[in-house]
Amino acid sequence: MYICGVTPYDFSHIGHARVYVAFDVLHRYLKFLGYEVNYVRNFTDIDDKIIKRANEMGEAPLILSRRFSEEFLHDIAELNCLPPTHEPRVSDHMEQIKDLITKILDNGHAYIIEGDVYFSVDTFLMIIIVYLGKPDDNRAGGGGRVTVDTRKRNPADFALWKSAKPGEPSWESPWGPGRPGWHIECSAMSAHYLSHCFDIHGGGKDLIFPHHENEIAQSRAACPQSNVKYWMHNGFVNRDNQKMSKSDNNFLLSVIFFLMRTHYRSDVNYSDKALDTASDRVFYIYQTLHDCEIALSPFRNESFKGVLPVDVKEQIDKFHTEYLSSMSDDLHTTTVLDDLVDLLKLINGTLKKFKVTFFLSYMELLSSDFGGKKQQVLILSLLALEKEVKEVLLTLGLSSSYNVSEVLQQLKDKALKRAGYTEEEEVLLTLGLSSSYNVSEVLQQLKDKALKRAGYTEEEVGRKIEERNMARKSKRSTRNQTKLGRSFI
Ligand SMILES: [Zn+2]
Repeated sequence: MYICGVTPYDFSHIGHARVYVAFDVLHRYLKFLGYEVNYVRNFTDIDDKIIKRANEMGEAPLILSRRFSEEFLHDIAELNCLPPTHEPRVSDHMEQIKDLITKILDNGHAYIIEGDVYFSVDTFLMIIIVYLGKPDDNRAGGGGRVTVDTRKRNPADFALWKSAKPGEPSWESPWGPGRPGWHIECSAMSAHYLSHCFDIHGGGKDLIFPHHENEIAQSRAACPQSNVKYWMHNGFVNRDNQKMSKSDNNFLLSVIFFLMRTHYRSDVNYSDKALDTASDRVFYIYQTLHDCEIALSPFRNESFKGVLPVDVKEQIDKFHTEYLSSMSDDLHTTTVLDDLVDLLKLINGTLKKFKVTFFLSYMELLSSDFGGKKQQVLILSLLALEKEVKEVLLTLGLSSSYNVSEVLQQLKDKALKRAGYTEEEEVLLTLGLSSSYNVSEVLQQLKDKALKRAGYTEEEVGRKIEERNMARKSKRSTRNQTKLGRSFI
């Protein structure tokens, strides 16, 4: 797949995150399905915007674009995005670009005026159809990206090669020194890395016209068999001036979650409140996995006999089937995240049962045989649920390579700060405690709750405690008698 990359002339913002997180999920999901993905994402490292910014800053355009490319790569790695197979730069692919322009000229779909090469829309029927209804945009010169050139045969014609101008970087060509027009780079580099026919081409929806439509025209003008099977375009982020750099892991995970909460084709409204909500949801996911990790850690290396309970197996299977159908239906991550809540709830419910069983076994209220079997089944359930959740988080880019407890602490601090609590106060609140409670009374209430959840009545509990006390007494008296007997000998 070929995804149109950034024009690196400034720091990345959340709008960039939207594009590359969306296509990272596609990349991850295709790999999860077993596809070998050849993922190409370019850098437009020479462009009018770069030249303008470089002139303002007194820096060479290619040095400025290299610097911001590095910043971009840093930000995108922080966002957990897997690296593409190839990340070509325009400045490294001049030969491929010139070859493609030559083919278009040879096929009669372009013309040269004083060192500039223009694509001729009049010679190419398809491009006229593509442009129907939009001639004004093209007359403005590629959506305002370039200035209008009155020498063109048709105002809709667009530049394939721009002759060198003073103060601009240029490369030698058969038409004189110059640099490529905006659109030709993606036709040339996609053909170079993926051939003229490939599966997926994507980018922001602002690229549909003129960039991608011009790409189709150029590629077909050069090679009539050129074909892209699927075009995918993501929506905008409204109010997207949030800078991505130098953020903590919690912020970045929350950003990924926030973006996944809306289908990639829809526009999304960015706000601090929306990000706080995302942060709370990420906290819930991570807290659940953390609790699960703690409960399972003593048992990781043990092998368990027993069968996964039917209801747990059914729920995991149902989730997995729906996950596949949601993701395969144009990456409906929103549905997947909604469904994931049910699985997390099931983990938390199972963890509660596990703690109660553990507590009852500890209190010797369950026979060791029964308690052991029950625990094994619960551990098996937790292992299966944890595996499924982690697998899904991995395909959504939400399975963190970050330190979990560090992220949890950051998320917790943020949530507490928002609520105006200290950590100590929060722990008490979680337990339903306040300083006016008598501690032993509260512990008794917690025990009662645990027993109730385990399905014991007060009388049964009383009877069991009585039996246990009797058993202890009788053990003690046997031991005393033995000791007494020994002393006599
Ligand atoms: Zn492109």
